[in-house]
Amino acid sequence: MFPTDLLTAHFRLDEPHKKALKRLGIATIEDLLLHLPQRYEDISCIQSVGSLAKDQDAVVFGQIGGLKTRKSWKSRVPISEGWVEDGTARIKIMWFNQPYIAKMLTDGMYVKVAGKVTGSEGKLYLANPEVEKLDSLPIDRHDSIFKNTENLDETIYPVYRETKGVTSKWFFHTVQKCFQNGALETLTDPIPEDILKRYNLPTLATALIWIHTPKKAEHAESARKRFAFEEVFYIQTTKARDRKAVSAATSYHIYTDTKHIEAFTSRFPFPLTDAQKKSIADILADFTGAHPMSRLLEGDVGSGKTAVAATTAYAVATSRPPEGSGRTLEFGALQVAYMAPTEILAKQHFESFIQYFKHLPIQIGLITGSGCMKFPSKTNPTKPTAISKAQLLKWVKNGEIPILIGTHALIYKSVEFKHLAHVIIDEQHRFGTAQRRALARGKGADETQKSADADPLIYRDLTYRIREALFTVTKELGTGHKESVYQGALRAEFTTRNIPYREQVHIPILYNKKNVGTYIPDFVIDEKIIIELKSLSFLGDQPKKQMWQYLKGSAYKLGLLVNFGGGKLEIQRVIYDKARETSSASCPHESAPIPHLLSMTATPIPRTLALTVYGDLDISLLDQMPAGRKPIITKVVAPSHIEEVYEHVRSELATGRQAYVICPRIEEPDPSKENALQLKSVKQEAERLKKQVFKNARIDILHSKMTPKEKDSVMEQFLAHEIDVLVATSVVEVGVNVPNATNIIIEGAERFGLSQLHQLRGRVVRGTHQAYCFAVTSKDTSGKSGKTLERLKALTTAKNGFELAEYDLQIRGSGELYGMKQWGLTDLGMEALKNLKMVEAARKEAHDLIERDPSLENHPLIEARIATLSKELHME
Ligand code: ADP
Ligand code: MG
Repeated sequence: MFPTDLLTAHFRLDEPHKKALKRLGIATIEDLLLHLPQRYEDISCIQSVGSLAKDQDAVVFGQIGGLKTRKSWKSRVPISEGWVEDGTARIKIMWFNQPYIAKMLTDGMYVKVAGKVTGSEGKLYLANPEVEKLDSLPIDRHDSIFKNTENLDETIYPVYRETKGVTSKWFFHTVQKCFQNGALETLTDPIPEDILKRYNLPTLATALIWIHTPKKAEHAESARKRFAFEEVFYIQTTKARDRKAVSAATSYHIYTDTKHIEAFTSRFPFPLTDAQKKSIADILADFTGAHPMSRLLEGDVGSGKTAVAATTAYAVATSRPPEGSGRTLEFGALQVAYMAPTEILAKQHFESFIQYFKHLPIQIGLITGSGCMKFPSKTNPTKPTAISKAQLLKWVKNGEIPILIGTHALIYKSVEFKHLAHVIIDEQHRFGTAQRRALARGKGADETQKSADADPLIYRDLTYRIREALFTVTKELGTGHKESVYQGALRAEFTTRNIPYREQVHIPILYNKKNVGTYIPDFVIDEKIIIELKSLSFLGDQPKKQMWQYLKGSAYKLGLLVNFGGGKLEIQRVIYDKARETSSASCPHESAPIPHLLSMTATPIPRTLALTVYGDLDISLLDQMPAGRKPIITKVVAPSHIEEVYEHVRSELATGRQAYVICPRIEEPDPSKENALQLKSVKQEAERLKKQVFKNARIDILHSKMTPKEKDSVMEQFLAHEIDVLVATSVVEVGVNVPNATNIIIEGAERFGLSQLHQLRGRVVRGTHQAYCFAVTSKDTSGKSGKTLERLKALTTAKNGFELAEYDLQIRGSGELYGMKQWGLTDLGMEALKNLKMVEAARKEAHDLIERDPSLENHPLIEARIATLSKELHME
């Protein structure tokens, strides 16, 4: 059994199984082994219902039944009741004041019930227990999981993420079978041994045994640590490699003197904060280096990032292109591209920039999906004017417009710059090296994907998948058969692996643009890669030259020459790229300077996450709010006091201010869904507020199911004060600045992480008017509720969003981190983020590895892992 073997080769799987596994992304033995348990159950604490005694804290597994809801006849408190039965006995369950609970459960369901045994002997019951639904009973005394348990210390067993079609038990048994069939012996550990030793981490094989069948909790822990380290290490390695690639490139030197910069900043209507000054200094220092800057500017909303961005743009736009770069008469200045995540934000930045630059003869362009603008207008030098896209692109291309602000249109449409020296991006953590190079070349990133220059790494992910198929076939068949044998096997292998292929493709061969023949390769994969199969005892230079000629005459750029004849599989890459021959001054290629990059974010994330996902960037932090800002008055409010909040907001509306109301859900949710009853929906809440609370206000809604256009339109209206109260889901996080909106009410605040609450609160700006944030929660000071309340109080004490993100991570765990999905880490990887030492270690090892082996030639397994990873990490 080999790790790359398909599961179907070893296990009989029915259709539901196959579908379920596909959903989970599990195709091979290795995929299965790396489907790690989500958690462990400890069976030592499980009691049988028959043995329960009064006052015990009980955990029982069984089937639930007899569910009903009634009102107690004395106090009229709603009571839900039922019973749970495990084969030894049955015990009653009662829930007080939780009428919806009986509705969430159905008779006959398998459950885990944990709670206190109450009542009197003979009339025992579980009061307000926690109930967890199970797809099947993990504890079944006849189950083979426990049959072979000779060692009574083995009291923990793994619980896997299930999906319709496969159960946790199936995973357990199938993994055990893989172990028994020697899957572990054929595994190679991608992580070098010395690294494992240094951090006392188990090898891959040991870790797999420990994680799937731990004898002790510490074993599982140690194995999880290894996999967490591995994940962070891979991400760090991609970042280290990106960083290395960028720092080997050249960029524009931008020299500025302090006086020159002060002439610009001294006109600001405010003094810069020390944090702003420091960040500007960091950036200007980077500009003078020989290599492109890669820097992240972190700062809360309102900390003044745009002012920093404008200053650096000024430094660039007042610098001349280097001598002799291109034609003799150089025209214009170095250029800046500033990319925002939405159209409204792009417009806002454009307007801010106009304010910063209006006294200077520096033109500013705006490009978005819905049109282009330029400042200043020819006819009115204090105003911007709409211009055609063609005109704008022309002026950007010839260098007349040094500053271009826009949305993704900046990279996806064919915008060409003359001397793009500085790229500023806002809240786009997936802006990768490829996008940056694309901008530098003045081509859209999507086009780059297709034309891929002479990049030796072109189509690497696809190539990797093909290689795997080739290896599998070789493993099965050995070498030395006829070509046609391999062709047949590959056909089957490509099909099972979902690799799109065509055969019998007639590729015209051109000579001086004339069709001089046809070439029919063995396969064309995904319309990108040509495959030519051979079975020769020795693959000389000839086939390679021939393929190169074919590529030259065709539209394809990459060919794989595969030889099965020489005793072992041999794969040669043949690259031919026309861009090499046709590149001109207006279409610079690899050697062109790469622009400096300033990435900006207000997304509060903890330091360990920043070190990981921004591992390729240097960080400047704006940890200081401009002086004289009134802090946002934040209050944690119980629903019983909501009327006071409404009263306050009504008075604010009366003085011409605006307000946000944030709800956790969009539609009135399905009442059968857990906890749904307490959630207020945006639509219903908007109606209720209109009818009962803010009767004279103009109310509208904003939620994630609206199209970007609809959202933009609502935000524009809110900005123009055509809406007084905006009822929204958390989509308003995206940083649109509506200075007049000074109130935010957040319903169900306990459902949000602190950093997300902070992000939401950032919608009301610390401007000239006093701003207010009301976090409404039904949690009170008792028990678990009390902890939640305490956590929310941190909102009123923490200095900034980054501090709150640390709290989130430490108190609630990584699962609660704001928008964690977007970072592309698994739960396990996120867990690692609690451990600064581990993250720093992974970072150091990744950097050392890339220093030693920049192209990962000697670490093909790591290279393969991160090939898949970089695809997931960067937008494609
Ligand atoms: P960010 O982009 O970090 O959210 P902005 O740069 O948009 O912040 O600044 C928010 C507001 O604060 C703007 O109105 C800006 O003019 C103002 N501002 C920026 N820096 C300062 C400062 N040092 N002192 C006072 N006001 C400032
Ligand atoms: Mg901003």
